[in-house]
Amino acid sequence: MRILVTGAAGFIGSNFVRKLLADAYTGWEGAQVTALDKLTYAGNRDNLPASHDRLVFVRGDVCDRELMRELVPGHDAVVHFAAESHVDRSLEGAGEFFRTNVLGTQTLLDAVLEGGVERVVHVSTDEVYGSIEEGSWSEEWPLAPNSPYAASKAGSDLVARSYWRTHGVDLSITRCSNNYGPYQHPEKVIPLFVTNLLEGRGVPLYGDGRNVREWLHVDDHCRGIHLVLNQGEAGEIYNIGGGNEYTNSRLTEKLLELTGAGTEMIQRVPDRKAHDLRYSIDESKIRERLGYAPQIDFEEGLAATVTWYRDNPDWWKAVKHGTGRAA
Ligand code: NAD
Repeated sequence: MRILVTGAAGFIGSNFVRKLLADAYTGWEGAQVTALDKLTYAGNRDNLPASHDRLVFVRGDVCDRELMRELVPGHDAVVHFAAESHVDRSLEGAGEFFRTNVLGTQTLLDAVLEGGVERVVHVSTDEVYGSIEEGSWSEEWPLAPNSPYAASKAGSDLVARSYWRTHGVDLSITRCSNNYGPYQHPEKVIPLFVTNLLEGRGVPLYGDGRNVREWLHVDDHCRGIHLVLNQGEAGEIYNIGGGNEYTNSRLTEKLLELTGAGTEMIQRVPDRKAHDLRYSIDESKIRERLGYAPQIDFEEGLAATVTWYRDNPDWWKAVKHGTGRAA
């Protein structure tokens, strides 16, 4: 078996590859893994084993048509993580978001089609639904993305769906909530706050801190993707959630507690433009149809994540302060 993972040096893609190489996923034991990544500022080669007899790392761009045509054929499946992923950056400049997320997905799927790849999972986000004050989104919810990041992901979702509907590509889409865990870039809120606190610095809390996010451990997310890869139906969308809704204020308090810091470390900063108030996923479809259940309790997972950052300063200092091989 051969599997191509795009965005494989990023936070979630690298977790998925490490688990594949550890034979954690039924049906993919012993699989040859091609890890494709452009190594943007967000990609880090050190997130993957330096060498492994079942791993081939390719530095390349999903928008590179010739490379995709050369690389994709011969794989049994593609799991597509590669994306520009940080909302704040998309507010400053959205061009790369639409190029990689929309055109990159289309370029990759053209190569999938030409190369006759049998199975594809497109990794999307709950942010395509917008913001919800009450209740939770099912997969039927209309798309109403608010940030350029979310709009580019919604665009890529629709490109992916069209390759199933028009060309019959055996493709499923996953939409997950906010991930946390080891190896997440310190621009994202949990590693940013944890590493700032470990350095004795303050934490910038947006607005009034009332924004609610649903937290999902990266291991649970990748378990869900594996279920969808093996058992998901073509053309179907599967929400993957963690079931843990926390306001940013409450999350910050937890992180202060776990790092032994006081509330004086909180620095209120002006709110993000068009900041979505609340995300909440209805994940009953993947639970009922594919038997998914998150396994990691949020408070335990968060404590373990803080410990990981405490124990791995070389990793995050290199990424955060530009002294490593992050790009
Ligand atoms: P990340 O930013 O850590 O990783 C993205 C990876 O893609 C990086 O390694 C980067 O180098 C690579 N990449 C970027 N542009 C590329 C290109 N043109 N060609 C090839 N590689 C390229 O992001 P992540 O948090 O691991 O997210 C992975 C996927 O999951 C993304 O599609 C994201 O939208 C989605 N997602 C993430 C979250 C989350 O909480 N992190 C939540 C929902 C959905």
